[in-house]
Amino acid sequence: MPQPENRPLGILGGTFDPVHLGHLRAAWEAAGFLDAEVRLVPASVPPHRPQPVASAQQRLAMLQVSLLGQDRLRIDDRELRRQGPSYTVDTLSELREEIGAHRPLVLLLGIDAFAGLPGWHRWQSLFELAHIGILSRPGHSTLLPMSLREELRERRTGRVADVSATPAGRVIEIVVSALEISATRIRSELAAGREPRYLVADALLADPVLLESYRRA
Ligand code: ATP
Repeated sequence: MPQPENRPLGILGGTFDPVHLGHLRAAWEAAGFLDAEVRLVPASVPPHRPQPVASAQQRLAMLQVSLLGQDRLRIDDRELRRQGPSYTVDTLSELREEIGAHRPLVLLLGIDAFAGLPGWHRWQSLFELAHIGILSRPGHSTLLPMSLREELRERRTGRVADVSATPAGRVIEIVVSALEISATRIRSELAAGREPRYLVADALLADPVLLESYRRA
């Protein structure tokens, strides 16, 4: 069992517009699988990209409400506080500075996000800073680009011990429950006047104002 200071730190980034049970359950299962603390990291969206429907403050507030009652999943709002575009490589560098050279850091990515990794800013540097945990859902298969398949050849492992014993550089698949939930679907349910019950945390649904911006969208 790793000591607390060496416990892996997992991070799951996203727009969380809004956060839903697909995100929360995947993060929860990854935390259990890796025996990690997991932080959800809401992204700020650069002005030239399609903007989330909810503001950064609303997305943060929805995360806070959805995470009530547990302390395994936490929020890290550093990307919302940073000026300019948020690159994952910068977020991981900052975290690496804070946690020191040795603690395992794991970037959690859905399989679709992982497949797009070669389009990310300085993507190959990510492996020097963190491991990657691919959140894969049974029944989903995604064709990976050749450059990623090459990285995987050396880095892939099926052993959690390889991740918890080293700070960065491995890729591990984490099979999570397949919950067919997307923020897009929740936004359209709300826009159509329907209630997304059992798709988002009960506490979020119960909040009288947090989902309002989608009802009006
Ligand atoms: P949208 O529908 O607006 O594109 P989304 O529901 O895919 O949003 P994001 O905020 O883009 O949510 O996702 C953040 C991260 O969570 C990504 O790595 C994504 O792959 C992962 N993710 C999203 N939905 C699920 C789900 N149902 N199960 C597991 N992982 C998920």
